[in-house]
Amino acid sequence: MPASKLSWHRLRKVVHAFCVLAFVALPFFNVVRFDIPRQRFYFAGYELWIGEFSIVFFSLMFLMFLVVVSSVFYGRVYCGYLCPQMIFSEASLSVESYLRRKVDKKLFHFKPKVRARIARALWLAVVAVGSVFAAFVFMTYFIEPRDLLHRLLSFDLRTSGGLSGAVVTLVAMADFSLVRLRFCTSVCPYGYLQGMLGDGDTLLVRYSDPRGDCIECRKCVRVCPMGIDIRESPFQIECVHCAECIDACEEVLVRLGKAGLIQYAWGDKDQPAVRGWRRRLGIHDAKRVIALLVLLAYASGLFVALSMRHAVLVRISPERGEKLYRIGADGRVYNQFGYRIDNRSRRGEAVAFRIQGLQDAALAMASNPVALKPGESVQGEFEISRPAARRGEMVAHFKILANTEPFDMTFLEPAEEK
Ligand code: SF4
Ligand code: SF4
Repeated sequence: MPASKLSWHRLRKVVHAFCVLAFVALPFFNVVRFDIPRQRFYFAGYELWIGEFSIVFFSLMFLMFLVVVSSVFYGRVYCGYLCPQMIFSEASLSVESYLRRKVDKKLFHFKPKVRARIARALWLAVVAVGSVFAAFVFMTYFIEPRDLLHRLLSFDLRTSGGLSGAVVTLVAMADFSLVRLRFCTSVCPYGYLQGMLGDGDTLLVRYSDPRGDCIECRKCVRVCPMGIDIRESPFQIECVHCAECIDACEEVLVRLGKAGLIQYAWGDKDQPAVRGWRRRLGIHDAKRVIALLVLLAYASGLFVALSMRHAVLVRISPERGEKLYRIGADGRVYNQFGYRIDNRSRRGEAVAFRIQGLQDAALAMASNPVALKPGESVQGEFEISRPAARRGEMVAHFKILANTEPFDMTFLEPAEEK
């Protein structure tokens, strides 16, 4: 762990910058996106249809279990380092105090009340722009970005997508200007969930002062964004493990030639220095090994489901009503089949049907090959015919090839020659 002063704060701000980039990039590059109007789920660049249950299931289970494993191992580190609510709330607080300082400095000849109003108006303008941006990016997780931009530029308040965008923008404005970090201690369920998932070896922020070095400067309390005193307990639900108090205490005590009294620690027990890469990563017991194995199982299931995926899904089935076959005026026996093709790829495709292993058979369909646009589904029917059987054969087994994919089928015909 970094030992130089303010190192956790710097690390956190770098991680926050990467998170904002990821928050913007993930929907734009279809890494994770749930397109509601088109009913598509995008994961790792794959365009998945809602009907692709196994992939959607493994994706959601993998992401959910990732949150669980991270809570068991690293406690509230997600809150302090990765949570968008935390990142935008802290950004709002920083901008507010920056503008107040700037206005006080530049407009010092104005009355304090006027300066405060100017600073607040500027800050609200920044919050408004930031809210439109954050709401736009958030909505791109559910609506295609160009479609959403079009709705935004045309001030669309009629469609459900446009209205949802407006509501999310207002909620974001209220959040960034009024709620901010209060959200973490009032609405967010993750803190309570973490309390249930964590155990005696979960990473936490802990105060320990066996030699009585604390000088009661209370700097750790003043810098805490959640307004708590970590010296009271490492298990306070408000603590988001941001480590601002670690930096603050170290900064104060290093000047007196002492070490900081607040640290990241695996559990609240006094422990010897953690040795070995497994323990440093937090793999302390069988429970954690099992949690990692379950996560690996979901990742493997997802990998297998993705590798078995067909970009063009063809389904063929015989259509046998009351009549199993019909005899045409040309003396041939006809069997009817139905097909459905889903083009889940992002380019046009063509599927050609052929018959294999059925002597003298002919295939009749309106158009063969069948052309499909990207994302298009097509269904239809075709007939296969052949001269009436001469060997008393009632069921003939054969294959229909859709491009190169074989489908086992049966051809039914009367037992006796007609
Ligand atoms: S107690 Fe320390 S780690 Fe916890 S929220 Fe406050 S500053 Fe962050
Ligand atoms: S910053 Fe350190 S020395 Fe100061 S009150 Fe907090 S724990 Fe004590």
